[in-house]
Amino acid sequence: DNQNLFSFLRQCFPADMDRTAVEVIDGPGAGLHYSWRDIERATAMMANLLVSLDLPEGARIAVQVEKSVESLILYLATLRAGYVYLPLNTAYQSAEIAYFIGNAEPSVVVCSPQNHGWVSKIAFTAGTRHVFTLGENRTGSLLDRAAHHADVHEPVHRKADDLAVIIYTSGTTGRSKGAMLSHGNMLSNALVLKDYWRWQPDDVLIHALPIFHVHGLFVAIHGALINGSPMLWLNRFDPQAVIRLMPRATVFMGVPTLYVRLLGEPSLTREQAARMRLFISGSAPLLIETFREWERRTGHTILERYGMSETIMLTSNPCDSDARFGDARERRGGTVGFPLPGVDLRIMDDTGAVVPVGEVGGIQVRGPNVFGGYWRMPEKTAEEFTADGFFRTGDVGRIDADGYVTIVGRSKDLIISGGYNVYPAEIEGCINEMPGVAESAVVGVPHPDFGEVGVAVVIPRSGARPDPQALIADLKSRLANFKVPKHCFIVDELPRNTMGKVQKNLLRETYQGLFR
Ligand code: ATP
Ligand code: MG
Repeated sequence: DNQNLFSFLRQCFPADMDRTAVEVIDGPGAGLHYSWRDIERATAMMANLLVSLDLPEGARIAVQVEKSVESLILYLATLRAGYVYLPLNTAYQSAEIAYFIGNAEPSVVVCSPQNHGWVSKIAFTAGTRHVFTLGENRTGSLLDRAAHHADVHEPVHRKADDLAVIIYTSGTTGRSKGAMLSHGNMLSNALVLKDYWRWQPDDVLIHALPIFHVHGLFVAIHGALINGSPMLWLNRFDPQAVIRLMPRATVFMGVPTLYVRLLGEPSLTREQAARMRLFISGSAPLLIETFREWERRTGHTILERYGMSETIMLTSNPCDSDARFGDARERRGGTVGFPLPGVDLRIMDDTGAVVPVGEVGGIQVRGPNVFGGYWRMPEKTAEEFTADGFFRTGDVGRIDADGYVTIVGRSKDLIISGGYNVYPAEIEGCINEMPGVAESAVVGVPHPDFGEVGVAVVIPRSGARPDPQALIADLKSRLANFKVPKHCFIVDELPRNTMGKVQKNLLRETYQGLFR
């Protein structure tokens, strides 16, 4: 039978196809309702357009457009037609787009109307045959062309391990790599999450994330579709709009910076959030302060989970207590919860041995959700898989005696100072608790004596002006000397990419000459 992810999702649409699947909240389409039938017919028309182009097997459809329901339809239509979807961050400029298009060699490129000039030049140079435009306001050649196609289409037959998506990693640690995900990778993960997060028949999702990334595209959209749940759709995150929508919704997913911005709104109250069932956070570490303040303000405990482009979701805090565990499973702040059902997760030391409980090491994973490899990087792929089929995530963490996983950082951000391992997350945790500090990042820079030393970059709370010297003195009284950063800078903000991840590589570049 057909393992095409779209054909599975379609079976989950509600029987009453006239009900709303997506309600647009902001942007040019504000107020529009798309029924399940609209989604079914629009994806069929667009799939028929793609099929009519007579593309080669496994053709990539590269897409860099503003978020809109039509861009969601394009994603689903690509699955439906059996081609490979390749979403691109809307922030990417010409040099980046040239790299991705040159690397992926897509047969079709879809871009914003205002970018058509330079994108089509890049695409045609790379051998792309078709360039379409898609505007945020339902304009562009893609919709014009699709309008002439029939609104019935049988989803193309696909096997579970057939390639469905190439999703480029966020590029936090270096150049983005194209993670190849199959129909089966995505379906297995979506089914596990439906159960683990206890999706309910009356759930309504607030969708306020970008859809060029695992979080907004897979976790959020597959979650809603596979449960037949409507989405309240925001093209752009707007904290006041999200708070206004809460009484009509039950589930919200955000990156940590979104929670911080929501907390900055006086309209966020316990009453306003009373009907909500679940707040989920991921993509970057959630500060314990944010976790606690959210509980105080709303009465809800944020559920933090952990995943990545290469694997979709790996671990999650529990949704509710579970009789099988003596009802003792709570959502624990600062942790990312338990490995999801079907995910093998182990913590290894540098010699390739599993570390004892509670000790820190490299996180490795195996499971039906783990990707097949990096697009056109066979050596890199081989390097990142162990002989027994585990993927080296590049993240460093530990599992405590209760089974909760904690991420302490990335192996590339680890600082080795005078031969000792320093985990930035531990130092950052100490700094963040100091008065006047909102947030911090600790990075390693070259040092003639120690090889590497830590440098702390600190963001003050508004109105506060913490003294760098006093901060370091305070750390000295709490931490072993080799862990204490040798220098502390107070700055206004940390460099972040669009997913709210701190770009430590940029900080390292900025401060690399400090001790030389
Ligand atoms: P690149 O691989 O190109 O350097 P990236 O790893 O940031 O970029 P993504 O795949 O988008 O690209 O992000 C996955 C990473 O995000 C994980 O490996 C992990 O480091 C981090 N992450 C995700 N969720 C969490 C979380 N809840 N807590 C801490 N870190 C998280
Ligand atoms: Mg990564």
